[in-house]
Amino acid sequence: MQPPVIPPRICFYKKRVAIVVAVTGTVLCLVVGCQDIKNTNMGLAEPSFAPTMRAQRVSHLSPQPPSIHRQSPVFRMVAQSDKNNPIDGNRAFGFLQHICTLGPRITGSPAMQSQQQILSEYFTNLGGKVRLQHFSFPHPIKKSPQGGSNLLVEWHPDRQERILLCVHYDTRPQGDNARVPAYQRGNIFLGANDGASGVALLMELGNHIPTLSTHYGIDFLFVDAEEYVFSNSPKDRYFLGSEFFARDYIQNPPKHRYKKAVVLDMIGDRHLQIYQDRNSVWWKDTRPITKEIWKTAKDLGVHEFIPRTHPKMRQPIRDDHLMLHNVGKIPTCEIIDFDYPKWPQNRYWHTAEDTPEHCSAESLSKVGWVMLEWLRSTQ
Ligand SMILES: [Zn+2]
Repeated sequence: MQPPVIPPRICFYKKRVAIVVAVTGTVLCLVVGCQDIKNTNMGLAEPSFAPTMRAQRVSHLSPQPPSIHRQSPVFRMVAQSDKNNPIDGNRAFGFLQHICTLGPRITGSPAMQSQQQILSEYFTNLGGKVRLQHFSFPHPIKKSPQGGSNLLVEWHPDRQERILLCVHYDTRPQGDNARVPAYQRGNIFLGANDGASGVALLMELGNHIPTLSTHYGIDFLFVDAEEYVFSNSPKDRYFLGSEFFARDYIQNPPKHRYKKAVVLDMIGDRHLQIYQDRNSVWWKDTRPITKEIWKTAKDLGVHEFIPRTHPKMRQPIRDDHLMLHNVGKIPTCEIIDFDYPKWPQNRYWHTAEDTPEHCSAESLSKVGWVMLEWLRSTQ
């Protein structure tokens, strides 16, 4: 998602002040929210879907999770969780780790190409129909044409009514969270949670979708250039892949219609807490989806889905769901745990500390379970 940009004239600056009062022993924390402003329009090339990508075997990059994780503390933690959960959290976490072994998956990079090959081969083997959607845009700094590619996996492509699950699979070019000290930001941003967690979740769900009992067709959309930005400048353009996909959907309408969509982002945090996004509650066409998903979580006992908006976040989340909803006219719910970690609040976000050890199999397992059950039950 897009980081909060803080225009000095209209935004509050966020800070925490902790005062230890010796007599009473109490601690006061003052947290003031911030807001951001962003231009969402942009010029993009004409839409084009490439034929199904020819997967190439990448021998040193198997999508299977390394066996070592079977003995990890993460495995034991999942093993103690709900027996009714069909999602294999350890397998999902193995995918997350594996994707991170590629290094940063920056738009247009060799690592991104490797990721596309891995995903194409993986989902093709599971029975999905894989396509790449290429687009171009001006490089944020050089202004020269820069290429990006969304990856679409279609399940039961003959079905006209479809549900779209969307994650971004690119990683930010660098850690630059202005809210943490410079030494924590780092030049290498791995994006274990902000990037790989969504990919890992869909890879795990891919094992369950082919046999899922639902009349909907389901599409997995991996969007590129969600945050191909090099600064926190409000001029930087986010959500390029999802905007391109949404424009193409409107300008070149396919036979099928997306009845519902969900964007999943940053759902691997070890300290999982998923509040409702304000837009996902405010948008009339999306509110029922949000209610359905949080009710599903409640019925399953997944209490990390908190049925209210974030108490300290006054503004809606800015993420790919804005493009799918506002441009593509698709009812789209955002699922994101924006506090990464819960405390100190967001210290890992957009820093070199966004690494696998700060994510967990259990979190992936719980979010996957909610999504699977929602897909099974939604009408
Ligand atoms: Zn991000």
